[in-house]
Amino acid sequence: MTFEQLKLSKNLQQTLAEQGYNKPYPIQVQAIPAILQRKDVLGIAQTGSGKTAGYVLPILSLLEKAELGKNRHIDALIVVPTRELAVQVQEVVKIFAQGLNAPMKSMAVFGGVSINPQMIGMQGVRILVATPGRLIELVESKAMSLAEIKMLVLDEADKMLNLGFEEEMKKILSFLPKKRQNLLFSATLSPELKEIQQMMLDNPEVIKVEAETENIELIQQTAYHVLDEKKGPLLRYLILSGNFNQVLIFTSSVYKADQVADKLAKHGIDARATHSKKSHKARTEALRDFKSGDLRVLVATDLLSRGIDIEFLPYVINYELPRSPKDYIHRIGRTGRAESPGEAISFITPEDLHHFKIIQKKMGKWVKLTYTEDMDLTPPPPKYTLTKEE
Ligand code: AMP
Repeated sequence: MTFEQLKLSKNLQQTLAEQGYNKPYPIQVQAIPAILQRKDVLGIAQTGSGKTAGYVLPILSLLEKAELGKNRHIDALIVVPTRELAVQVQEVVKIFAQGLNAPMKSMAVFGGVSINPQMIGMQGVRILVATPGRLIELVESKAMSLAEIKMLVLDEADKMLNLGFEEEMKKILSFLPKKRQNLLFSATLSPELKEIQQMMLDNPEVIKVEAETENIELIQQTAYHVLDEKKGPLLRYLILSGNFNQVLIFTSSVYKADQVADKLAKHGIDARATHSKKSHKARTEALRDFKSGDLRVLVATDLLSRGIDIEFLPYVINYELPRSPKDYIHRIGRTGRAESPGEAISFITPEDLHHFKIIQKKMGKWVKLTYTEDMDLTPPPPKYTLTKEE
């Protein structure tokens, strides 16, 4: 299957080629024709599957041919759970909107930053990517209207429910016209999602892509049995002896994320933390620097375990195990993606052993546990030689 066979416009095909998208991913093969036929879609897929382009491309294709609507009336609304995801999705929209034969202004809006520039920026916007709370504020302050929405996307709907956005989601649905196309994406189909599904979708085409198990095969998983007080030395030892140049570390609390990043930095390892208590600016900058390779270590809470796509991330470390096996899979799924191998390392304290067993059982894969108690965790000397000057 090629993008040409999927009947995407020539302009889009050219951008696809420029972006190195040689052939459509499975979710795109299924979602693009369904969306182009104006069907509702229920997509069970997660980050890494290519779902973003799976809905962005046909939306652009349909809007390119549609008549231009009134100003400050959004055509396509994409609702996402986090600001990071909003920024990321809008980047995809922006890239593919270039070179189309129609104006296709898009914008990402989210809370935690001033609303005024967003209100002003709404001029001419056709595709809006938004987190729920700020979206409602913008509608209520009449910065724009959702009354003529043609297409609605709810992305990572399960995450939205986990974050407690249920009421907001229902409220947003009440702002929309009855006649519209609906696309709902979720990594899992939970019973809690049923209500939203029923409210939103009309006889949808159901598309399921098993990304989790596929990805897991690509990930080399390692576990280290370690006492809590030895985690810091083990972490530094692994980073330095393995010469890890881009590593994402997960902790279970904001406090721990800061502590781990500070400790690494004190030992001369370039590290920053990102989590919900950081400003939007700090989060965006940390992620940008990490993605570009300017920042060696990013320490994050589960905020980042889903939805953020970093191509070719070689190492993920679970400094602390997540509570749910699902979160474990999402976390380690940040590596070994897009057909590139990666390594996921977990630190297991004696207290974690039982929980780690449950995780492995749920995942259907056993991970070799290395005991570190007798390991010498002294980091190796830096990899350069000093030449003696006479
Ligand atoms: P997503 O699941 O939408 O976050 O996409 C995962 C990654 O796959 C992103 O880095 C995309 O740029 C990339 N991607 C999506 N579709 C394709 C494709 N057909 N060919 C190559 N890369 C793709």
